[in-house]
Amino acid sequence: MTVAAPTGYAAIVTAAGRGSRAGGEVPKQWRDLSGISVLARSLAAFSGFDRVVLVVHPDDMAEAIAHFAGPVTIVTGGETRSASVLKGLEALEGQASHVLIHDGARPLVSDKVIRGVIGALQAGSVAAAPAVPVSDALWHSQNGHVIGTASRVGLFRAQTPQGFRLPAILAAHRTHPQGAPDDVELALRMNHKVAITEGSDDNLKITYPADFSRAEQILGPSMDIRLGNGYDVHAFGPGDHVRLCGVKIPHEAGLIGHSDADVGMHALTDAIYGALAEGDIGRHFPPSDPQWKGADSAIFLRHATDLVRARGFGFGNADVTLICEVPKIGPHATAMQTRLASISGIDPQRISIKATTSERLGFTGRREGIAAIATVALMKE
Ligand code: MG
Repeated sequence: MTVAAPTGYAAIVTAAGRGSRAGGEVPKQWRDLSGISVLARSLAAFSGFDRVVLVVHPDDMAEAIAHFAGPVTIVTGGETRSASVLKGLEALEGQASHVLIHDGARPLVSDKVIRGVIGALQAGSVAAAPAVPVSDALWHSQNGHVIGTASRVGLFRAQTPQGFRLPAILAAHRTHPQGAPDDVELALRMNHKVAITEGSDDNLKITYPADFSRAEQILGPSMDIRLGNGYDVHAFGPGDHVRLCGVKIPHEAGLIGHSDADVGMHALTDAIYGALAEGDIGRHFPPSDPQWKGADSAIFLRHATDLVRARGFGFGNADVTLICEVPKIGPHATAMQTRLASISGIDPQRISIKATTSERLGFTGRREGIAAIATVALMKE
């Protein structure tokens, strides 16, 4: 759901700061928050507005255009927050009656909070902004000790978006070019009344590294889920055993292959590569390379599972089906589950091994070889 803003309402999302307090190489607003960047989330909250202006640091212009150009007007910011807001306001001058100015580092702003601000402006306020009453006790301290208390009566923690009649806030910025920590303060200097609307504890401003974890908790489990499938076939040939899902099974024939011909492990490994859009075993371990001749297929599976974790994913589950008339798989299924778990680090309870015959039809039915299919689900952690 997004807020369908009234005609004439515009939004400015500010993201020109470098956000060094949040840690990391990348400014906080560009960092990933449960699969979507902080800034993309902040902008999405205003997708129901006719006009949205994004203010970015000059160094981020190319990236901003790549991600957001089109519905969003992108301008570069100034030296200070106020200077950046002024650039955004100038981009809207004469084109909107009201503007909501939002901090790009508040990605969890709710529709309810936005509607509250719009409602107060529609009711005639020149300015309106969300806030949360201070509920903790307030202390004065000196050298790590409490030396006094302060009344919290009437105190609020300010949030964004802060909404204004556009000409009023533009005039406030132009009258006070030295700026202020937030736009409400400028409105007050112009003697405008600022209505307080209902804020939300979830509308946090991402400032410190721990704020990312808190925001992820509020968002709940990741919805970035990747599925992959794998299919493989190997023909029977001379030999006295086969290797299936890492387990050696005595048999009247072997399986022919460049590596150890573990058809089950190959299908599973390809399913993992598939979920990551990373091709297949042949791409990572070319059969033309003699070093993989007779190789233990555990090498392939371990490579694929390492790649999963390097990409920040974990395993939802894996399901492998072996298709053959012989040998009997059932007696070995638990050993296969245990072996695949130890190679991959996947919880054995998330690994399923099944087997089926093909009712004596086709190449597996004629006992010419074994086929395997596998499915995996990966989840962003
Ligand atoms: Mg194979």
